[in-house]
Amino acid sequence: MLRAALFSLAAIAAPSAEQAKPATNIKDPVCKMAVTAKSMTATVRGREYRVCSKYCGEALQKDPDKYLEKDGSVKAEKK
Ligand SMILES: [Zn+2]
Repeated sequence: MLRAALFSLAAIAAPSAEQAKPATNIKDPVCKMAVTAKSMTATVRGREYRVCSKYCGEALQKDPDKYLEKDGSVKAEKK
């Protein structure tokens, strides 16, 4: 798929040393539990996401497309 290919290319081109964007999500992308600023975070594609536990963080990093939109927003927060 062309869109997927373009997205992968952009991800590779992004400098890895760049600071990850801080998390803004209010729900765990994986289990959809409420998260707060004190929750731990997982970094995916140069962006941080708050998660309830390291298990959800690992699940998110393993299969980000399952939980995140192409623009990086959290699917769980969309109606
Ligand atoms: Zn969770």
